[in-house]
Amino acid sequence: MRAENERPVYMDHAATTPVRPEVFAAMVPYFSRFFGNPSSLYTFARESREAVEEARGRVAAAIGAEPAEIYFTAGGTESDNWAIKGASAAHRRGGGHIITSSVEHHAVLHTCQHLERQGFSVTYLPVDGYGRVDPGAVADAITDRTCLISVMSANNEIGTVQPVAELGKIAREHAIPFHTDAVQAIGSVPVDVDVMNVDLLSLSAHKFYGPKGIGALYIRNGTEIENLIHGGAQERKMRAGTENLPGIIGLGKAIELAAADIEGYTRRIGGMRDRLLAGILDAVPDVALNGHPEMRLANNLNISFRYVEGEAILLLLDAHGICVSTGSACSSGSGEMSHVLTAIGLAPEMARGAVRLTLGDANTDDDIDYVLDVLPRVIERLRSISPLAPPCGDREGT
Ligand SMILES: *Cc1c(COP(=O)(O)O)cnc(C)c1O
Repeated sequence: MRAENERPVYMDHAATTPVRPEVFAAMVPYFSRFFGNPSSLYTFARESREAVEEARGRVAAAIGAEPAEIYFTAGGTESDNWAIKGASAAHRRGGGHIITSSVEHHAVLHTCQHLERQGFSVTYLPVDGYGRVDPGAVADAITDRTCLISVMSANNEIGTVQPVAELGKIAREHAIPFHTDAVQAIGSVPVDVDVMNVDLLSLSAHKFYGPKGIGALYIRNGTEIENLIHGGAQERKMRAGTENLPGIIGLGKAIELAAADIEGYTRRIGGMRDRLLAGILDAVPDVALNGHPEMRLANNLNISFRYVEGEAILLLLDAHGICVSTGSACSSGSGEMSHVLTAIGLAPEMARGAVRLTLGDANTDDDIDYVLDVLPRVIERLRSISPLAPPCGDREGT
């Protein structure tokens, strides 16, 4: 048994990651010593201003962009909102039509639903059983009113990587702006805005060992977009509000480190992930891996355990100090199945038994051994007391 004060075995890196010590150290001076407002004109503020521009350069270099194409935001959600609302408004052609996928993050899906209420029409493309968008379907969905295409680079629930470069090529052939939510991709797969043919790209520092509440939107030179946040002249009058100075410094440092180590990270984390998967498949019957077997993020496992409920697995693992997340939205109280697992055609009983384990720098080989010791016993115990999980809505107090 693990001692209660032992650190948790954290396997939820798709939800957030710890700040790297080097990133934290880089941020510290900008809380106090160099606190100047980057917009102020005196010499003292120059250090702040220069640090912001240095960080902008680091973000640009990591994704193959120009510094002037990087705009700091408050994170992935704001970047997605800005890209979709801003580009749709600027490119609206006779009512406006948006193409996106049915497996996007809620930051994209709920923004599109909001625009539908404003009079836009939206095509939510289906995906195959692995969660991949068919580029042919994108081409077929384009109309002369299409003003934006938005498809994520990699899925946060099942880890499936999309054929973004192909999708971007189609968008470009039709002169339609193309946005990708690359929040999960940065640091895990190579991201280059020219290779991917994207005009708009969202990223968020806390998903790659940077601080929470800071992100960026890449806007290709010449892309028409309206402001989301109105106010002062910051970010070349495109995103008002005094800069999150320490956050920006942290983002710059974190993305520099993440982009420099994609290969090593993939090898290290992917090796642990593969051993974890093999161990689970070996020890537990009636399980299925969700998402694409190869075209997936190196750190992601999304596994359905038949006859049990993901939330019950989560709670029992939590009692053993293991942090994971579920594939159903039961825990959020909505009683609804994950839209991603539904979109890949998972039967409700398999979607209910889905658990997401996302590895990262916090994990060691010992962690894998520990989970491989605990998880099969947890599943066995749950199956022995509850061969068929009740539907989410039937339970109280969730
Ligand atoms: C986490 C996440 C977001 C939201 O980013 P925040 O910085 O937490 O607002 C958006 N899209 C994807 C794919 C994510 O994983």
